[in-house]
This record gives sequence, C-alpha cells and structure tokens, in this order.
Amino acid sequence: MEKEQIIKRFLKYVSFDTQSNEYTHTHPSTLKQKDLGKYLVNELKDLGIDNAYMDEYGYVYATLHGDKSLKPLGLIAHMDTSPDASGKDIKPTVVDNYDGSTIKLNDHMELNTNQFDCLTKSIGHTIIHTDGSTLLGADDKAGIAVIMTLLDDIISNNLNHPTLLITFTPDEEIGEGADNFNYDYYKNENCILAYTLDGGSPDYYNYENFNACKAVVKVIGKSIHPGDAYHNMINSQTVAMKFHNMLPSNMIPEETKGYEGFNHLTSINGTCEETTLEYIIRNHDINKFNNQKELFKNIEKEMNNEYGYNIINVTLTDQYQNMKELINEHFEVIDLINKANKALNLTCVPEPIRGGTDGARLTYGGIYTPNLGNGCHNCHGPYEYMDVDEACQMLHVLKELIKE
Ligand SMILES: [Zn+2]
Repeated sequence: MEKEQIIKRFLKYVSFDTQSNEYTHTHPSTLKQKDLGKYLVNELKDLGIDNAYMDEYGYVYATLHGDKSLKPLGLIAHMDTSPDASGKDIKPTVVDNYDGSTIKLNDHMELNTNQFDCLTKSIGHTIIHTDGSTLLGADDKAGIAVIMTLLDDIISNNLNHPTLLITFTPDEEIGEGADNFNYDYYKNENCILAYTLDGGSPDYYNYENFNACKAVVKVIGKSIHPGDAYHNMINSQTVAMKFHNMLPSNMIPEETKGYEGFNHLTSINGTCEETTLEYIIRNHDINKFNNQKELFKNIEKEMNNEYGYNIINVTLTDQYQNMKELINEHFEVIDLINKANKALNLTCVPEPIRGGTDGARLTYGGIYTPNLGNGCHNCHGPYEYMDVDEACQMLHVLKELIKE
C-alpha cells in the first residue's frame, strides 16, 4: 500500500520539468521549479497541513505540529533536477519484481548488472527507469515522495510524532539549495535537527563531507617576440605546468577514494603572457586540508623567489566545510538513525561523501543535518533508476525514528 503510494506520488512529481540552471543567477534559477512547488503546497494542504506555503525563492515550508516531549525534526528534499541531463518529458517505466536481466532503455542503451553493480541489490525489488532520453529525477523526487507518504501515514493513522518541519528546496543541483534557506522558520520552532533525503541506498547515511576550497593560480609571464626571446621571454604557460608538477601527482580525483583528498585542476586558460589555473582542493580531514592549501602558498613563495618577481599569484577561497566536526556535538541526530535501524533489524552505516551536501551548509547555519538514502541510483544521467523497495525501507526507518 505504502509502496503504491510512493510510486503514484513519484510518477506525478517527475512529470514536472524542474531542471535548475547555474547561469541565470535568479532565485529560483528556473521559474518552472515553482510549478512543482505549487503542486506540493496543494498536496500538503490536502493532507491537512494548512500552514504549507511557498516563498518568493521557491522554497516550500510546512509544519506538522506534534508531541511536545519529543525534539522537533526537519525533513528536507530538493525539487530541482541536475543540469547534466534533460528532465523534460520523462517517460518512466515501472518494473515489478526485477529479475536481474538486462533492461533495454531504447535501441542503443541498456541497464545491466555487469555495468551497474548496484542493480544486483535491486533484484526482487520494484524499480523505475527511464527511456534513455532524460534523467529520471529520483534525485531527489524520491525523497519528496517518501516524506509526503510519511506525512500521509502519520495523519491517516494518527501516529505519535514530534513536530516535523518539512522543506522542499530549489537549486540544490547548482549548489544554491541553502542560499535562501529560512533559518528563522526552524528557529521559531526550536528545531535544530534535520535530515536531507538525498542519498542512494538506505543502508548508508552521510555526515562526513569534504572540506572544500577553490584555488585560482595566476601566472604572469613576459611575452616577447619569439625571435628575440633568448633569455628574455617567460612563457607563463610553461611556468604554469611547472607549478602544476610541483603538486603531488597522485593526489587527483582519478587516483583517490574513501577519505583520500585531492587537488583537482578544473581549468587552464593561457597565453604566453598570462595563464590561469583553477583548482578545487578537497579533504575530509581538516589538518590535511589545511596542509594542501599551505602547499599552494608555499609553491607560490618558492617560485616567486626563484623568478625574482611575483610571477605566481595564488588566491584561495573556502567553499564549504565538513559537517562532521559540528554533528559530533549533536550526535543525537545520528543516534536516532542508528536506534531506528536497530529496532527494524536493519544495518545502516556511515559513508563519507566525496563532495558536499546542502546539509553541510545547514549544519554550519545551526541546523544539524545528516543525509539519508532515498533509493535513487546512477543520478544525473539517463541511466538513473529508483529502487522503490529501498525508498519504502527509508519510509519505515523514518516511521520508527519519529517514535523516539
Ligand atoms: Zn540530490
């Protein structure tokens, strides 16, 4: 029954094209996200939550007041889909009791367990996939469907629950999901604990993300006619390569995993006169992260000494921080996950995120927000699929979690 409800809701939500766009610089980045927002406000009101509303930035907020002896909890999911693949005219197919065989998305694309290991875990489950022309949007409409079905369950069955603050955000996929978040809405209800439902398998939760910094390295050379260049020209591009080669060669995304950090060269732009290198610096460990940043500054110093002028200019800009340091001070938000899984005889373990989450930014804003699974896999592209049984598992865990 719950499973059918999740599917029905999910199929409705993915009929809205909610792709965000990092280049519009408006809030929300695309107005079409508000169409889903409006629909969700109406659905919340239909469930009986009359205070549901959408603000000017396209954030949907609603509060289901509950047992005052329990700590209020926030439940958050994002409405937008990734700019990496189209989210328009999605044609989802529901496969019941998936048998592990190859699924043809279209004439030239297929989903199979050889290529996508995670699919083997979905054998026997209900899965939803695309026709290969768009993404699916389970990231994160699966999260919205789980939250809505939970609210429906609580209200229809009169379940005991803490005050729940619901938020559906725009623009998560372009890194702006926390930009216009209404912290006061949470403060007014004394809510400092929340969860995003934006992960994959419900067997994992995330509360460790990268510390993140952007480095821009500007190299100023000396451009001279190549014919007269002898011992005079300084080709900034050659110097830029030298700079790059002074960084540890194996500390790059394609050579690192788990808790290993990296310096990722994201772009090079250069002429003989001037070259700009852009990097992102990432590490879970704050000390190692600081060492990486220091290395950039040390190489700058060393090379400026060598050349006798400010040939290298390094600008470091911090982007986000690992939420772990702060979550550790409010570990009850993790205890609740563990207790709920234990009560259901499920195992759910932490997994470090090799990236950031909106939850990390919310945590630094005073709302301690680890991330939970929602059953979506192969996100941001046409191979995306949703494991409905996994979404259902998440629903059961949440129903258990709100009892505490
Ligand atoms: Zn997401």
